[in-house]
Amino acid sequence: MSIKENLQSVKEQIADRASLVAVSKTKPNEDILEAYDAGQRIFGENKVQELAAKYEELPKDIEWHMIGHLQSNKVKYIAPFVSLLHGVDSEKLLRTINKEGRKCNRRIPCLLQIHIAEEQTKFGFSQDELLAFLSPEILLELEFVEIKGVMGMATYTNDQNQIKKEFSSLTQIFNGLKATVFKKSELFTEISMGMSGDFMLAIEEGSTMVRVGSSIFGVRNYTR
Ligand SMILES: *Cc1c(COP(=O)(O)O)cnc(C)c1O
Repeated sequence: MSIKENLQSVKEQIADRASLVAVSKTKPNEDILEAYDAGQRIFGENKVQELAAKYEELPKDIEWHMIGHLQSNKVKYIAPFVSLLHGVDSEKLLRTINKEGRKCNRRIPCLLQIHIAEEQTKFGFSQDELLAFLSPEILLELEFVEIKGVMGMATYTNDQNQIKKEFSSLTQIFNGLKATVFKKSELFTEISMGMSGDFMLAIEEGSTMVRVGSSIFGVRNYTR
């Protein structure tokens, strides 16, 4: 199947229940343009350099999402244009994003990455860590950061029950934050969860944004 047909099939399954980030990491511009010509406008990358290069080379109405782990010293390369940072997982990173946002005078949209997987290797805040530093005062200080919701990655497993449980826990954490720290924030609306293998399950568990790569563009030459 072509990229266009794959995209159509994924979109039919999602059926407007969540927004679709087409994950184009490692894929050439011509593949991205094929999806673009089929109507896709949101693309996700996990490397700052690759994202910045593709931004330069491709149509300017593309919304670029940084979905991978982000190092503080690289925020500056994408701060002026990035549409959403999914992997924001430390207070230090939030403060750097705030600083870079101030420099380019824009509020940078972010998702707080939460650790929901059993695996030790996945990045993200624990719920306790988050509650320990997120306060109305801190949010006021972070005036150039726009926190739009949460992001999480499930354990890499075939056990659907476990994945379901982890997705459900992210939705609960989101609801808890929405009812407390972000009570007054109309912008706190997004739950980014679900990839090629599990995006339908993620939507059932409350995802508002799925990140789908290989089901659209085919398998990559490396695994994440
Ligand atoms: C690569 C990646 C995806 C997409 O993975 P697929 O299984 O190819 O759909 C989603 N989210 C993150 C954070 C990724 O790094």
